[in-house]
Amino acid sequence: MITQNLKQTQNNIAEAAKKSGRTSDDILLVAVSKTKPLSALQEAYNVGIRDFGENKVQELCDKYDQLPKDIRWHMIGHLQRNKVKYLIGKVTMIHSVDSLRLAEEISKESVKKDAQTDILLEINCAGEESKFGIRPKDTLALVRQIAVLPNVHIRGLMTVAPLTQTPEENRVYFQLMKKLSVDIAQESVDNVSMDVLSMGMTIDYQTAIEEGSTCVRVGTGIFGTRTVADME
Ligand SMILES: *Cc1c(COP(=O)(O)O)cnc(C)c1O
Repeated sequence: MITQNLKQTQNNIAEAAKKSGRTSDDILLVAVSKTKPLSALQEAYNVGIRDFGENKVQELCDKYDQLPKDIRWHMIGHLQRNKVKYLIGKVTMIHSVDSLRLAEEISKESVKKDAQTDILLEINCAGEESKFGIRPKDTLALVRQIAVLPNVHIRGLMTVAPLTQTPEENRVYFQLMKKLSVDIAQESVDNVSMDVLSMGMTIDYQTAIEEGSTCVRVGTGIFGTRTVADME
């Protein structure tokens, strides 16, 4: 089932990429494996997936220890400063940086471990009360503050768009994200690149790609629904 889902997802990605004048080589698929057992990740690994996304530090570290070392781990969930130390040196990218204090902690731990850590800034694109993330209008100022920190590198932006029934409803937010990313890139801030635009989940990744996403985070569409039992 996972193998079949992956094939379908990759086909959908290629189709959406084509619509935006790109190919699937331009889009990174992060398989969101939170709550799923090692056997599920291993199946995806066996058919070539190397990028996995997790939203809990403990779970990411446990899976890191038990699976092949050529896996690239993406931290996509809200991150507390006191847990940063466990991630540094293990993660390829932290997608969910939403404050200067968190970036400072990532920098401090990276220096300590002599590591270079790539991060994305998480944007609250729809201004939802319930969500983490930076307001679009505050983003550039924060980029400038984080850019000067040692051993931490902003590679782009990430967003979790509103939960909707139809992906079309989120198209405006994906357009807003693309514009924000282009606007920041034009500022040419030292130590900052805007190459990565992490947006799009199972329900809306095709729309996100059409609007310029370079990285989609797909969980349910690959591994099936997460039951409450999975989460515990
Ligand atoms: C769980 C999660 C996803 C994947 O969601 P699906 O709807 O299962 O594809 C993507 N991004 C983040 C930040 C998540 O927490």
